[in-house]
Amino acid sequence: MPAPVLVVGSIALDTVKTPVEEHADLLGGSASYASVSASFFAPVNLVGIVGDDFPKPHIEYFGSRNIDLTGLQIVPGKTFRWSGEYMWDLNTRETRSVELNVFEHFTPTLPEAYRTAHFVLLANIAPKLQSHVLDQMQRPRFVIADTMDLWINIALDDLKALIARVDMLILNDGEARQLTGETSLIKAGRKIQGMGPRFVALKKGEHGCLLFGENAQFFSCGAYPLEDIHDPTGAGDTFAGGLAGYLASTCAGEVKFDDLCQAVVWGSVLASFNVEAFSLERLRSLTQGDIDERYRMFRLMQQFEAQ
Ligand code: AMP
Repeated sequence: MPAPVLVVGSIALDTVKTPVEEHADLLGGSASYASVSASFFAPVNLVGIVGDDFPKPHIEYFGSRNIDLTGLQIVPGKTFRWSGEYMWDLNTRETRSVELNVFEHFTPTLPEAYRTAHFVLLANIAPKLQSHVLDQMQRPRFVIADTMDLWINIALDDLKALIARVDMLILNDGEARQLTGETSLIKAGRKIQGMGPRFVALKKGEHGCLLFGENAQFFSCGAYPLEDIHDPTGAGDTFAGGLAGYLASTCAGEVKFDDLCQAVVWGSVLASFNVEAFSLERLRSLTQGDIDERYRMFRLMQQFEAQ
């Protein structure tokens, strides 16, 4: 049985508009995507909060995915809501509204049994809350944090304090440039390593991901070339969840750069499925066979022979 991954983050009801479709009140949130994605590899302990309006079938769905819900707080009030709109390139996104609701007073208190987890994924929420989770952990082996531009804008000191404590930071290209003031993503990645994490993954949306390791180790992973993208929401969270789940399923000892190269590919595979449908719909129907086949295609596409 693989080690469980502790996942903390947002659980949301999202309204998402693309140039061709709009859907309201969808299951979303960084922890929802990340924990379902991780659950394809390892059991998950989920820490989050929802209101009493949160549909029961979503909770049942989490339970059906080997996601432990002891750490899920269900409190009186409304669930966190987020609404976003994508431009025609499906890459640029504007947040239309955010309603914190029960999130406003959320303190992520870990059940005793969660505190010894070896693998921790701090999915996107306020860095102060991510740090609070770390404060309760007993010597985790590998801690991954994800973040977003909002926290660079409004909670930079908290974010820097968190970054100094994690093994790996995941962020997208724009956020890396914003955090470091560097135009070059290579310089930005290295500069972020200088802030603490041994590993940094920079996501470049449809252009894949860059992985930075110790002693100038570097890996570039392409993205799967999809013809039809329906909803990019949660791609980053699904990537992070797949990556963390894979590590928990394979790394009995120290996590090495080679493990992370594999993990980045598995994360990219999961993310490539997620954008094929709104919300978590594609993850719901995903099979191990689908995942293995796309991993095989990834390998074929990134391989070339020396002349
Ligand atoms: P991504 O597409 O990876 O940026 O993640 C999208 C998800 O992040 C959506 O499902 C939202 O519910 C969630 N989200 C948006 N804003 C926030 C926020 N400020 N804190 C936590 N989660 C958020």
